[in-house]
Amino acid sequence: MEVTKEQIKRMGSMLDGCMSSKELFQVIADEKDPHAFDVLITYVQGKVAWTEPILLPLTDHLMIVAKETGKQRQAIVKCTCGHEFTEYRVNWKVQANVYVRRSEESFQELYPQGMHATEGWHEIREYYCPGCFALLDVEAVPPGYPPVFDALPDLQTFYRDWLMRSLPVDPHEFEDFTTQYIADNFAQREV
Ligand SMILES: [Zn+2]
Repeated sequence: MEVTKEQIKRMGSMLDGCMSSKELFQVIADEKDPHAFDVLITYVQGKVAWTEPILLPLTDHLMIVAKETGKQRQAIVKCTCGHEFTEYRVNWKVQANVYVRRSEESFQELYPQGMHATEGWHEIREYYCPGCFALLDVEAVPPGYPPVFDALPDLQTFYRDWLMRSLPVDPHEFEDFTTQYIADNFAQREV
């Protein structure tokens, strides 16, 4: 079914937070629109300046897109600014710029005194896009904890069994390749 301008406008006002609570309630209470996914994709695709087809939005800034490189068609993570991370089975955070807060002083830039975690027990990691410097995610974890992989969606199953359409990328194993990526790209440092 064709995505209408009216549907795109409605999706935009819902996502941009400018829909009235009455209208929003109506969307929640109404029967679900089976084409909402297509409307969402059309809306987000219309907001970016690049042309790789968006397969699934992950956040406001990050999209999984179909990328053609030579004969390869891969699903990669791309920022709305155009910056490309690696393929979606690798946690994009290992390619982002990261600012880590570890000290009392840096915690107190965010929290009132006594309201933050104890130094040495906790760290706050802020992940930024290397292309546009937008803040992409924040995580609070014990020091040494691996970057949290927020979402590794099973794209192939989603497209095949839920959307009933083919995914425009090469068939691939559904597996987290982050550890492999780190082993291949980050040399072991002497301590
Ligand atoms: Zn960006």
